[in-house]
Formats: sequence, structure tokens, C-alpha cells
Amino acid sequence: MSVSDNLLHIKSTLPEHVTLVAVSKTKPVSDIMEAYNAGQRIFGENKIQDMADKYEAMPKDIQWHMIGHVQRNKVKYMAPFVALIHGVDNFKLLEEINKQALKHDRVINCLLQIKIASEDSKFGLAPQDAIDIIQSEAFLALKNVNITGVMGMATFTDDETQIESEFKLLKSTFDDLKTINPNNSAFTTISMGMSGDYKLAIQCGSTMVRVGSSIFGLRNY
Ligand SMILES: *Cc1c(COP(=O)(O)O)cnc(C)c1O
Repeated sequence: MSVSDNLLHIKSTLPEHVTLVAVSKTKPVSDIMEAYNAGQRIFGENKIQDMADKYEAMPKDIQWHMIGHVQRNKVKYMAPFVALIHGVDNFKLLEEINKQALKHDRVINCLLQIKIASEDSKFGLAPQDAIDIIQSEAFLALKNVNITGVMGMATFTDDETQIESEFKLLKSTFDDLKTINPNNSAFTTISMGMSGDYKLAIQCGSTMVRVGSSIFGLRNY
């Protein structure tokens, strides 16, 4: 099936309240344009330089989501245009995003990445650390970032019971953060689910799925 067939098929299976991020990392502009021409406007990249290059080359009504791990010294390259940063996992990074957003007179939307997987390789905040950030005075002083939800990645495993319990942990962390968040009404996003597990993620409360290979095919690194 073509990129546009794959995209339209997946979209037809998503409930209305679930946003699709088409993960286009490693894929050429021609493939991404095929998805664009089929109506997709939200794309996810995990490398800032690739995302900036594609932003330059492509229509400006695309919303670019940074889904990868973010190094502080690279925030400046995406600050002019990024629509949502999924992987915010420490306060210093949030301060840098705020600083760069201010330079461009923007408010940048961010998700707090929560560590739900058992693997050491996965990044993320412990749920309590996310709560501490949201409740801190220092956080309240940051006027150019907007925390709109949480993001998580489940363990890479075939054990659906484990994946389900990790997704449920993210959902309950979201619920806890929502009750204490001063910016409660904008706090709406649970970014969880990829090609292999997005249906389960939606059952567990996901509102945003990040799907790559099921749309664009397998990646060659
Ligand atoms: C690559 C990636 C995805 C998409 O993975 P697929 O299995 O290809 O759908 C989703 N989220 C993150 C953070 C990724 O890095």
C-alpha cells in the first residue's frame, strides 16, 4: 500500500478525540509530501537538524512535533517554528525552551516525558518529579512555555500486559498532574502509542498517537 493509503486507513480507525502525529523521521520530503497531499498536517521528527531542514523545504502550514530526546544546546534551532516538544524530561531544558521562545516572542507547547518503561535506555521523569516541577515557583515564572500534557514510551516487549500497565501508569500520572496544574484547561494531551501499540494505547486513554512505520514503511538507518 502507498503512504497515502496507509495514512487514510489509520486515520479511519482513530476515534475523533485522538490526534495523529505522522512520524516522518529518516523519510524524504517526497514521502512526507505524499502524506501532506492526503491531508496530514502534523509530522514528528526526532532530530532537530532534520526537522529544521524539512521545515525549510515544506509547506508552512505543517505543525512540526519534536518527539525525540532534546539536547539543551539545540533548542534554539527549533524555537522559531516547533509546534509541540514531546520529550521534556528535566527542568533545565524547560528553562532553555522558555528562554528561546521568549526570543521569538512565542509560547512553546511542551509535554512532560514520563518514564513508564522498565528499560534503563528510555528517558523520562519519575511521576513525582513531574509533580514537583508543576508545583514549583520556578516553573510558574516561565511564561513562554505551556505544558499541555504528558508523553511516554512503553517497554519494547511482546508482553501486552506489561505495556498495558505502563500505559495505565501514564494515564494516572496525567490525571494526578491535571488536578494540580494551574493551567488545567490547556492540559489535555496524553501522547502514547506507536505503530505496534497505538490501539492498546487508545484503550488506555491516549489522545495523541505517534505512528511512523505503519504509514511510511520500515526505516533504513
Ligand atoms: C520512531 C518513533 C515513533 C514511531 O515509531 P513506529 O514504530 O515507527 O510507529 C514514535 N515515537 C517516538 C518517540 C519515536 O522515536
